[in-house]
Amino acid sequence: MAQLTDDCFAFGGGLLPIDEARRMIFERVGVVAEAETAVLRQAAGRILAADIVAEREVPGFTNSAVDGYAVRFDDLDPAAETRLRMVDRITAGHLPLSGVAPGTAARIFTGAVMPDGADTVIMQEDCREDGGTVIIQPGIKRGANRRLAGEDIAEGVTVLRAGRRLGPSEIGVLAALGRTEVPVRRRLAAALFSTGDEVSEPGTPLGHGRIYDANRFMIAACLERLGVTVTDHGILPDQAGTLVHALTRAARGHDLIVTSGGVSTGEEDHVRAAFAGEGSLFFWRLAIKPGRPVALGQIGGVPVVGLPGNPVAALITFATVARPLIEALSGALPHVARRFRVVSGFPYKKRSGRREYVRVSLEPGDGSLLRARRFPKEGAGMLTSLTETEGLVELREDVTQVAPGAEVDFIPYGELI
Ligand code: AMP
Ligand code: MG
Repeated sequence: MAQLTDDCFAFGGGLLPIDEARRMIFERVGVVAEAETAVLRQAAGRILAADIVAEREVPGFTNSAVDGYAVRFDDLDPAAETRLRMVDRITAGHLPLSGVAPGTAARIFTGAVMPDGADTVIMQEDCREDGGTVIIQPGIKRGANRRLAGEDIAEGVTVLRAGRRLGPSEIGVLAALGRTEVPVRRRLAAALFSTGDEVSEPGTPLGHGRIYDANRFMIAACLERLGVTVTDHGILPDQAGTLVHALTRAARGHDLIVTSGGVSTGEEDHVRAAFAGEGSLFFWRLAIKPGRPVALGQIGGVPVVGLPGNPVAALITFATVARPLIEALSGALPHVARRFRVVSGFPYKKRSGRREYVRVSLEPGDGSLLRARRFPKEGAGMLTSLTETEGLVELREDVTQVAPGAEVDFIPYGELI
């Protein structure tokens, strides 16, 4: 499974801008997940391994978009009612018995094949029947209420690109093309650890001075949302030897390892040392707040991401570092979080050269843009600062202050992870 060179994450030190970190990841990490075939019903969330080229058109025939009457547009009087003799009744899934000759119309239902000669469908609400004839109000456009063959998907077009994650809409397109199977990338396998002598398993008694492990559950949810299969390796103590042993073992049989905690510069931050001792370690000081140093390295050719211990920092660095890494390894197209313009509801001062994320909720503003209300409590450990807010205001490296009322970029949490 080895795929990384020892120095693949090498970086000269200093503060690493997050765009640079992202660029390095996509430049230096190759796809490890082989292609395989998934049954369509089981393909949701998987990454397409090849472009999907339409081998047929959708819809496969010109049909009616409404319940109504299929007519020849040239028969219609643009200024007065038109009477046409009805010659057929065409329901979805059944073929027309005849074409529509001049002066005639066919009763037709949504999804039914358009009869030869007809080019327009009048909605039934705009018509009335009188014996064997239909009386049509004026005012319809040529070609109205008709769906042309191939107007959704033309034969031969690339409808979905390799690397796309299959969501409900993509699955729908594949089914509409008649596919039952789809080429996807193998799911990545990740080994997940928490570290810290104070960290305890939820469900066990909590001694004084200890906390329950929030990160492992949160990060497992992040990984699984990206389609990664997680092996839960529990909690490791702040003890270099144990860490080295566990990480080395986990490197066999996994595509990546994710840990949290122990990557700061404190004496008890052993994860860095463990990475460094066993494989190679690159310690990235990301120019980001919140988000403390992140350790990136490889053990036995398998990439290892050491996320910080504070949960908010762990989540944000997961999104900035682990997510691109996973996309690169799994052959997924890079996700670019969509930003929305909002108005800042707060003043803010920051250092230049660092990107900062402010946890906010949105409320109606004075103008057309929503206003971002800042969460009153700060701290990278404050989990409810995530559940009580809707997303992040992103203040880029060059910004040094924000006045209330200024326009800023907002990233909803759903775009982040
Ligand atoms: P560290 O990065 O190990 O210095 O940890 C920073 C802070 O995050 C400390 O307050 C830790 O107790 C806390 N922390 C570390 N790991 C976890 C975890 N798995 N869940 C919740 N908090 C954690
Ligand atoms: Mg720790």
